[in-house]
Amino acid sequence: MGKFKRVLLKLSGESLMGNQQYGIDRERLTDYANEIKEAVGLGIEIGIVIGGGNIFRGLSGAANGFDRVKGDQMGMLATVINSLALSSALQATGVKTRVLTAIRMEPVGEFYAKEKAIESLEKGEVVILSAGTGNPYFTTDTGSSLRGIEIEADAMLKGTRVDGIYSADPEKDPTATKFDEITYDEVYNRGLKIMDLTATTMCKENNLPIVVFDMDTPGNLLKLLKGEKIGTLVHN
Ligand code: UDP
Repeated sequence: MGKFKRVLLKLSGESLMGNQQYGIDRERLTDYANEIKEAVGLGIEIGIVIGGGNIFRGLSGAANGFDRVKGDQMGMLATVINSLALSSALQATGVKTRVLTAIRMEPVGEFYAKEKAIESLEKGEVVILSAGTGNPYFTTDTGSSLRGIEIEADAMLKGTRVDGIYSADPEKDPTATKFDEITYDEVYNRGLKIMDLTATTMCKENNLPIVVFDMDTPGNLLKLLKGEKIGTLVHN
């Protein structure tokens, strides 16, 4: 995959914990903000979707007796908390940001519309697309597939803790090998779990490539954006 002009970056909520067990690690947030600032400096348009798993997940809430829909709404609000934290950290580095929310909650963020997102991206602002899809029973991976497709991103960059997609779980199977590239059909046929199937299928059906890469190695995001082969590229 060549250079990118516009990307949708997906960060998990858990990645914001750093070495903590819960919540947001200030240092990790600053590291991310600095790396994203450099990426903006390359002239790349960046939309960001961030998860909420470091604060609340609807499924685990339901397991603890919460109503699933309420739990999912709590999870979506958790993504807004993370989005505000990232927005604040980015602004502290001098990067302009705009937080859009899939659930109406002005003045915390503006209600999402594709046009608002694209307007900001074209001005060089980082757009943070929060509250997932706004609906229960979805995930922020699906939220980022959806938003990535809507803003016509060149790719969805899924930042994870592993450096790509493997033929098996590398922590359990020493013979596991990493793919540099893989098709969506192969992902299905091999039963590889890169995201939930709803999210994966949306990307496949709308021809949005995904790059799964290790976001915790400093410099990786920039290398990827400059066109280096980092992580695993998933395409049709
Ligand atoms: N969520 C939801 N609808 C969405 C996106 C997220 O209901 O469109 C809820 C869901 O409960 C999920 C939580 O928000 O568990 C946090 O999102 P996710 O688990 O995707 O975050 P991550 O694991 O990436 O931190």
